[in-house]
Amino acid sequence: MQGYKKLIIDLAEKNENYIQKNIGDYDIYESSLQSRAGSWFFMAHNKEEKKLFIVNESSCFDQFRGQEKKIAGSKVKMVSLNHENAEILREFFPFTAPETIGRQGVSLGLGDRLGLASPGHIDTVRDKNITPVLAQQSIRELDLTERTYEDVLDAASWAVFQENYQDGFGADGDHLKSEEEVNMALDIGFTMITLDGSEHIDNSIEQLDSQQISKKYDDLISQKEAVGELEKMYLGNSFALPGGQQIKFSREQFQKIVLIYFELLNFAEEIYRRTIALLDRDIDFELSIDETATPTSPEAHYFTASELDRRGLQINSLAPRFCGEFQKAIDYIGDLDRFESEFQVHAEIAEEFGYKLSIHSGSDKFSVYPIIGRYTDQRVHVKTAGTNWLEAIWIIAENDPELYRELHKYARNNFAEATQYYHVTTDLDQIPSVEQLSDRELLDLQNNEDARQLIHITYGVILTARKEDGSYLFRDRLYKFWREHEEEYRRALQQHIGRHIEELGLA
Ligand SMILES: [Zn+2]
Repeated sequence: MQGYKKLIIDLAEKNENYIQKNIGDYDIYESSLQSRAGSWFFMAHNKEEKKLFIVNESSCFDQFRGQEKKIAGSKVKMVSLNHENAEILREFFPFTAPETIGRQGVSLGLGDRLGLASPGHIDTVRDKNITPVLAQQSIRELDLTERTYEDVLDAASWAVFQENYQDGFGADGDHLKSEEEVNMALDIGFTMITLDGSEHIDNSIEQLDSQQISKKYDDLISQKEAVGELEKMYLGNSFALPGGQQIKFSREQFQKIVLIYFELLNFAEEIYRRTIALLDRDIDFELSIDETATPTSPEAHYFTASELDRRGLQINSLAPRFCGEFQKAIDYIGDLDRFESEFQVHAEIAEEFGYKLSIHSGSDKFSVYPIIGRYTDQRVHVKTAGTNWLEAIWIIAENDPELYRELHKYARNNFAEATQYYHVTTDLDQIPSVEQLSDRELLDLQNNEDARQLIHITYGVILTARKEDGSYLFRDRLYKFWREHEEEYRRALQQHIGRHIEELGLA
C-alpha cells in the first residue's frame, strides 16, 4: 500500500500535475486525472478490474457508490464501473455523455463489440475532424454477445473519462426494427437511432415481369389513393441534383419503386411519429435499408429521400444498399466503376436533401474508400463494428497461439450457426488446418479472407459458448487475456482503423 499512500498524499497536498504511477497494485491512467468540486478523480486498473478512485469528500464524492477508505488522512472511494455509477459520472462530467453528431462533417460508427475498444478508437480519431460514435450496437449484436444497451453506453462513457476525451461522441442504437426497440435505446440515453426498414422492403418485386408489376401496381392504387398522387409528382418530371446529375423515372421503374418502398415509408413515418417526433431533445435519426436483397438504385434512393422529406421526417443519414456486396471483414465485391458512378449520384441525393450518406459494413472495404471520400466532400457517416473484434482475436493469435487454435476450431465447428445472422460466402475449405500451421503461420490467417469471415461472424458463438456446468467456455479467459494486453489492442486498433481513415482521405 506504500505507493497508494504516497499518491493520496501527493494528490491531497501537492499539485495537480503530480501523478504517482502506482497505487497498491493499481496502475493509474494518467490521462484520467480530473478534479471536481474539491475531489480528485482518476481511473486505475489491476489484473482483475478497473475502478474509479475519488479522493477527498465533496458533493460528488457522496453521490458515487463504492468502498470508502481512509488513507493518509484523506477519504478515498473506490468505485465500481457499474451502470449506477456511470449515470452519476455522466451527470458530473457531461463530456462522458453521448451527444448528437448532426448532419454535417465526418462521423465514424465504431461499435465496440467487447466494451474494450473505445480507448484505441479514441486514439485513432483524436485531433482529426471526425466525430466518433463510440457506442453502436444492434439488437442482434447485443443478443449475440449477451450484453445490454446499458453496458454498451457505459463502456463508452468510462473509456471517454479514462482517456479524457472531451470532443464529443455519439451513441447509436443500430438496426432497430420496432417501436419498442427504439424506445429502449432512447430511454437509456442513446443519441442516434438507426431505424432498420429492411423488413418492409418487398424483395419479391425484382423478380416480376412488367405485366405482373403493372397488375400489382394497379391493385395498390385502387387501395391507396395516395399512390396515385405520387405518379403526378414523379412521372414525367426530371429532378436536378446539386452536382448536375438528373433523376428521371420510367413508368415501369416508378411502379417497381413504389411497390418495393411504399410500405417502408409508412413504417418509417409511423415509428418516427410515435417516438422521435415526441422527444424534446435532438436525435440523429438514420434510416437504413442496407440489409436487404434489393440494391437501392439511385432512383429508389431519390424517391425514398423525397418522400421522407415530404412526410416531414428529419433524417440525419440514410444507408442505402449499394450495388455489389459489402460482406463482413473483407473488401468490396463487385464492379468498382459501377459502384463509383452510382455512388456519385447517391452522394448528390444526400446533399440535395441535406443529410449524410451512411455506409454500413464499412470495415475493410478499402477499395471503395477513396471513392467515398471523393464524392462526399467531408460529409459522411461510415460504420465499422466487427473489425475491432477481429483485431482483438489477432492479438491472441500472436501472444497465445494455443488459445487461438482452440477458438478457431470452435468457430469452425459452429460456423453454420453464425451464418443464420450474416450473409457471407465463406469457403471453409480455403482455410488451412490450424494444427498444421506453425505459430508464426497462424498470423497469416489475418490475410486469408475466408478465415477473416469465419472469425468475424462467430463472435457470438465464441463469446457465449458454455461448459456443461453453465460457466463460459472462453469468455472469462478472453477478457482476462485482453485486460493483460490492453496496450497491444490499442495499437492494433489505431493501425487498423487508422488505415480506414487514411483511405477516406482524412488522415
Ligand atoms: Zn447495416
